[in-house]
Amino acid sequence: MPILVMKFGGTSVANLDRIRRVAKRVGVEVAKGYDVIVIVSAMAGKTNELVGFVEETSPLFDAREYDAVVSSGENVTAGLMALTLQEMDVPARSWQGWQVPLQTTSAHSAARIVDIPTENILRKFEEGMKVAVVAGFQGVSPEGRITTLGRGGSDTTAVAFAAAFDAERCDIYTDVDGVYTTDPRICDKARKLDRIAFEEMLELASLGAKVLQTRSVELAMRYNVKLRVLSSFEEQSDEAGTLVCDEEEIMELNVVSGVAHSRDEAKMTLISVADRPGIAAAIFMPLSEAGVNVDMIVQNISEDGRTDMTFSCPTNQVARAEEALKKAKDSGDINFHDIVEDTEVCKISVVGIGMRSHTGVAAKMFKVLSDEGINIKVITTSEIKISVLIDRKYMELAVQALHDAFELDKVS
Ligand code: ASP
Ligand code: MG
Repeated sequence: MPILVMKFGGTSVANLDRIRRVAKRVGVEVAKGYDVIVIVSAMAGKTNELVGFVEETSPLFDAREYDAVVSSGENVTAGLMALTLQEMDVPARSWQGWQVPLQTTSAHSAARIVDIPTENILRKFEEGMKVAVVAGFQGVSPEGRITTLGRGGSDTTAVAFAAAFDAERCDIYTDVDGVYTTDPRICDKARKLDRIAFEEMLELASLGAKVLQTRSVELAMRYNVKLRVLSSFEEQSDEAGTLVCDEEEIMELNVVSGVAHSRDEAKMTLISVADRPGIAAAIFMPLSEAGVNVDMIVQNISEDGRTDMTFSCPTNQVARAEEALKKAKDSGDINFHDIVEDTEVCKISVVGIGMRSHTGVAAKMFKVLSDEGINIKVITTSEIKISVLIDRKYMELAVQALHDAFELDKVS
């Protein structure tokens, strides 16, 4: 029997009615002849509640116990989903991560998947079971402790199962009906894409189009798992949702596929650092050790052996970054005249695989922003992406203007 993986996010299983509703969808796929692996998230809001319990109980919590508590939301949904399917006369049972066993590293709350043995579940399918319901987001460490994969980790569980079981497809049911050319909440012309390439989705996922956990897209790309993102609240059809797939499977690649934004960015500049071998390492090592997620980095042309170094990071990490840099300065590892911070910026990016073979996208983007009177503070580019930092107050305007200029509302 061909295998299908279906993943249901928190809003899709938020209460018993919704669980019944999505269980019917599972039933439809079973009727088509699939053996189905269902991956479930915790009911909406549950994981946040559990995280709150842990933090209130123990501010400097033991990460192993954090995982023990926080993983439990998925266990409830898995059992309820299996029961619901049984009530519909669909043979089903639940698995917690350790029962599979989904083996992970010991990096609690950010564990990586090491292996998913398939024998256990395949044997049950042979014996006539139709649906394996697996608790997402969790696994077991070599030490035998429960681990979790990081927030949003059920997406990664789903893709990993699809890869391990060589599933025909991995359908991710969520509360949006697909991947859009931009955020529909700030641009009403945003259009749902029928298909998007893995690489584009990776850029959009990490740029803040929060549909899929970034790691799940990396995994899907590595194992060529066809991913479909679709809504559990709308009627199902074969064209529903967005297919995230290899670029070979997309006939006409878009020059620009989407405009992404990331609201809470900060820009930090170290004024006048000595321009010598090792200076970048001396600045960015302490930042990385302090857990600062540095995104863009720009080093200026130097003058008289001194240069300015600018980088961006999330706004809520500015204090941590500053502390790490001042410490490095005090210990004599680096030297600078001043740190200048701008915590009122946002990042806007245009993404598209077609940029590899088309010129002029950057020029057009800059012209659009200039026509709107928006100043660009930092620019970075990659093969399929151009990102800029601008004042946060222009975020909506910039997204809308770029969406218009690249005609993303029209099917190309
Ligand atoms: N329940 C977990 C979270 O909220 C994992 C997931 O839903 O993907 O982060
Ligand atoms: Mg999610």
